[in-house]
Amino acid sequence: MIQFNYMDIYKKLASLNLPRGEYVVVGGSMTAHGIREAHDLDILVTPNLYKTLLESGEYKQCTCEQCMQTSRLMLKGEDVDILPNFMFGNYIGDTKSLIENADIINSYPFIKLEEFIKFKKELGNPKDLEDIILMEEYLNNLSKE
Ligand SMILES: [Zn+2]
Repeated sequence: MIQFNYMDIYKKLASLNLPRGEYVVVGGSMTAHGIREAHDLDILVTPNLYKTLLESGEYKQCTCEQCMQTSRLMLKGEDVDILPNFMFGNYIGDTKSLIENADIINSYPFIKLEEFIKFKKELGNPKDLEDIILMEEYLNNLSKE
């Protein structure tokens, strides 16, 4: 029996209180499926919601090296990153369709693992490759049931 030391993603999502249909949880979806723990949440939001959150002043544009070097837009909150788009390399996520096709778990929307795998394949870091294996194993086991 593996013991996960989960960040309580549902408590976090409840506290963020984002409007339904305007966002989908990306980083954190593996935790929702019980695959591995999360250290923070990455949330993809519509342009409208991004603007609202930016103007709320509760979030700050991320100034990490990667964001600065690539002019990547990302808002940082406490244990949460807010993304205005979801793309890397040859993967271009369509925000609207990712939201519409999200898996609803405990009444919160999470990106389909199949989509997350596509994205992580483009990232291609060792950590991402490990995650891909975990997600593929999980999906394979589901299809056998
Ligand atoms: Zn950053």
